[in-house]
Amino acid sequence: MKEGMGKVAVGAAVIGAAAVVGVAALVVRQRMKSSGRWARAVAIVKEFEEKCGTHEVKLKQVADAMTVEMHAGLASEGGSKLKMLISYVDNLPTGDEEGVFYALDLGGTNFRVLRVQLGGKTGGIVHQEFAEASIPPALMCGSSDDLFDYIAEKLAAFVDEEEQRFHQPADRQRELGFTFSFPVMQTSINTGTIIRWTKGFSIDDAVGQDVVSELTKALKRKGVEMRVAALVNDTIGTLAGGRYTNNDVAVAVILGTGTNAAYIERAQAIPKWHGPLPKSGEMVINMEWGNFRSSHLPLTEYDIALDAESLNPSEQIFEKITSGMYLGEILRRVLVRMAEEASFFGDDVPPKLKIPFVLRTPDMSAIHHDSSSDLRVVGAKLKDILEISNTSLKTRKVVIELCNIVATRGARLAAAGILGVLKKMGRDTPREGGGKTVIAMDGGLYEHYSEYRECLEKTLSELLGEETASSIVVEHSNDGSGIGAALLAASHSLYLDEKL
Ligand code: ADP
Ligand code: MG
Repeated sequence: MKEGMGKVAVGAAVIGAAAVVGVAALVVRQRMKSSGRWARAVAIVKEFEEKCGTHEVKLKQVADAMTVEMHAGLASEGGSKLKMLISYVDNLPTGDEEGVFYALDLGGTNFRVLRVQLGGKTGGIVHQEFAEASIPPALMCGSSDDLFDYIAEKLAAFVDEEEQRFHQPADRQRELGFTFSFPVMQTSINTGTIIRWTKGFSIDDAVGQDVVSELTKALKRKGVEMRVAALVNDTIGTLAGGRYTNNDVAVAVILGTGTNAAYIERAQAIPKWHGPLPKSGEMVINMEWGNFRSSHLPLTEYDIALDAESLNPSEQIFEKITSGMYLGEILRRVLVRMAEEASFFGDDVPPKLKIPFVLRTPDMSAIHHDSSSDLRVVGAKLKDILEISNTSLKTRKVVIELCNIVATRGARLAAAGILGVLKKMGRDTPREGGGKTVIAMDGGLYEHYSEYRECLEKTLSELLGEETASSIVVEHSNDGSGIGAALLAASHSLYLDEKL
């Protein structure tokens, strides 16, 4: 019995020892598994970083490709992915503009209506007020009439609130500058047909229609008496608005939901322009650079999948790697792969992470800018948006690293694009007489994503070199686009001869 008990006791001790060994093995295996997962996650980040590489040589190739495409787009219709559209703006604001004008700015998720009173030579902008509304998502892919009716209705409400002192003199219609920031083939300052939609809009029955007559018809339906005096986009508006306050403005760049650029070209350098030579000898060109594409662009599997699943596959490739609509979505796609292949957020892939566009660029920039010691903004964003709780500091750091990779690539490529434009203008070397070239910049991405903005400005300086960089000024033109459209409406007013 004793023996037996002893045996039993020995047996139990052996079992106990085996259990200890077993638990230890499990812990080790678990650790190995998690370090294997971590190594896999790090490998995915590293690979992504390499594929997003934008060293200087590559950026200069991108800039050169941009310059080449600009030439090709100016040479003939359809000569390049860059449409290089003629804006029919051959005179930028002089400061003489006078009277009350309206502007309507449509080109992303929000649209704005503005009322501006211009005071002529010495008065400047005497008064401005605006109203803003968002475009309901259903209208972004609905019918042309529905979209334009909605806009006209908001404009009608805004006009209704017009104070007496802003009323037009008798027999004079209100006039409007329409900032419509999608590709449009213009045939005059206030006519042009929609080429295609971008930035998440897709309204088939509007393609090929005249934008101004679509708007004018909708205004009639809503009982608004108004003449559309100028049709521009945000880049042209920003160039005009920037020029009003600074005579050295020669380029405008938008980095918002989408991206685009415009610049002043010599009319004689536009072979496809068959109209009379403008008196100024100049013409503002709307590049539609969002559609730029080159073999030098660093594209990853995530970009290719994003493009394939977008509303406009194989279009707007430059836009899809640089602009606000897409940066957060690229980040999300990398995180999905890390969750799937490296269990980055635990054994399961968080369901919310699988929703396209759930991670928006403003959230990405909040994550990127988190400077708290425990990265609590990152933790809160992951929890609130993706329902991923209890993330470790290590995990949060990796997420920030990914933001940095995505934003850096976008900002550096945008800088390369600007270098390409400056090259085309012959302004990539110091100018005789020390003249400055001012680039008017606008858009929510540029305005609010400071890591992006600072990286862009630093990269542009590096690419230009110290001496040239001192002659290139990047200026934030805060809502220059709306004011610019009003200014262009004024300079293309029917009543120019009847000065108030
Ligand atoms: P739009 O380009 O639609 O005319 P905006 O110029 O206001 O309008 O830009 C809005 C875009 O800017 C948003 O879609 C978003 O991508 C980006 N954005 C806005 N706020 C931020 C932010 N805080 N950080 C990063 N990007 C932002
Ligand atoms: Mg805008």
